[in-house]
Amino acid sequence: MAKLKAPVEKNDMIEVVIEDLGINGEGIGRYEGYTLFVDGGLPGEKVEVKVVKVGKNYGFAKLLHIEVPSPDRVDPKCQVARTCGGCQLQHMSYPAQLEFKTKKVREAIKRIGKLEDAVVNDIMGMEEPWYYRNKVSYPVRSEKGLTKIGFYAKNSHRVIEHSSCYIQESRNQLIVAAIKEWMHQFTITPYNEDNLSGMVRHIMIRYSKHLDKFHVTLVTNKKKLKHLPKLTEQLVALGFIDGISISLHLEKNNIILGETTEVIWGNGYLREMIDDYTYHISPKSFFQVNPIQTKVLYDQVRAMANLQSDETLMDLYCGIGTIGIYLAKNAKRTIGVEIVEEAIEDAYHNAELNKLEQMEFYVGPAEEMIPYLYEEKGITADVVVVDPPRKGCEVALLDTIIKMKPKRMVYVSCDPATLARDLKYMWENGYEVVEIQPVDMFPMTVHVETVCLLKRI
Ligand code: SAH
Repeated sequence: MAKLKAPVEKNDMIEVVIEDLGINGEGIGRYEGYTLFVDGGLPGEKVEVKVVKVGKNYGFAKLLHIEVPSPDRVDPKCQVARTCGGCQLQHMSYPAQLEFKTKKVREAIKRIGKLEDAVVNDIMGMEEPWYYRNKVSYPVRSEKGLTKIGFYAKNSHRVIEHSSCYIQESRNQLIVAAIKEWMHQFTITPYNEDNLSGMVRHIMIRYSKHLDKFHVTLVTNKKKLKHLPKLTEQLVALGFIDGISISLHLEKNNIILGETTEVIWGNGYLREMIDDYTYHISPKSFFQVNPIQTKVLYDQVRAMANLQSDETLMDLYCGIGTIGIYLAKNAKRTIGVEIVEEAIEDAYHNAELNKLEQMEFYVGPAEEMIPYLYEEKGITADVVVVDPPRKGCEVALLDTIIKMKPKRMVYVSCDPATLARDLKYMWENGYEVVEIQPVDMFPMTVHVETVCLLKRI
């Protein structure tokens, strides 16, 4: 069948009604049946747009004017909310954001998971959805001869500076200002991605709510960076620094940290507490970015796992051992698996800190390590927790879990689409989905975390 021609052309100015929000928070409008993505538009709004790109099946348009605003529309707190790539939903009220995220999970479960009967609970949101993040990575670049430290603009590597960020700790700005001043004072150059020149690539800052202190990691492109004692002096003078590290990164890629990280002042680890548990976090290890909601999430995991004292727990994709440590007291044996070696060093350290010395950890990809532990070593588990990155679990891992026959599985996911795909696979292989609970770990952004309980039928 021949495709109909799109009813719009590039640069047309038209009026569109926004009907829905896409998974990245973009408004989806329709014009004579043709789909137009309108960044910044909210469902129910009548907007004037300029068409910027016309494809066969859909196009993109720029929001020019809102003729009839949605009752969910609010003024973003942040001046750069539209240009910065960090917050996609600041123009939407927080209750509406929560509704959008619950719906996103429900739709994925239905459409991709084909789990018509699965109940998805309403998302658990934050009381105060601002200033929640404990980690930030600022690219350091040069623009027209000036050093720029900020966030990348949407879909680009142009750095947008800001005077305050409403989802980060506000003292990050003082750290950035001190580093910028030092760079200026000693002519320390920002990184240039095109010719790999310049000295400072990124600044990573981590914050501990428990200590009320910060760890700063300067990512550098130069083996022997000069004037570091002066930088240390200026940062320490701020009064809230716990440690400073230098990460040497000479490769051309988009990974933030380099291969080696060296502590130049204070502690090499940041210490955080979630509930009664203490965690040491080294710069390279993953740690949840929202400490308040991490407790909410882990409490859900613990309740769903419902461990009995004679049961073995496997905590897969365990990072620094966080979930396993949170649950280990209720289990007979706890085994963690994680791909990053430094994270496993932290995990052993953390088990010791929390007096859970009997915990075991293995370094390697879960999809290889679990088949090995099960097939070669005969290790099984009663309860398996998985917390994979966005791409979800590899089939080789799910197949081994299915063979291992744990009674319960708790799936923690940061991507509803891959979660739905994996739940479907488990459902087809003898597991029923008992509960699905989204948790808002990332207010103002489109991201959503979900925790699910599966039981062996
Ligand atoms: N459960 C932890 C970490 C979750 S983030 C927490 O709540 O803190 C996901 C983790 O999976 C990261 O630490 C990442 O390094 C790890 N990872 C990524 N791919 C992996 C794989 N194939 N096998 C094992 N771990 C992996």
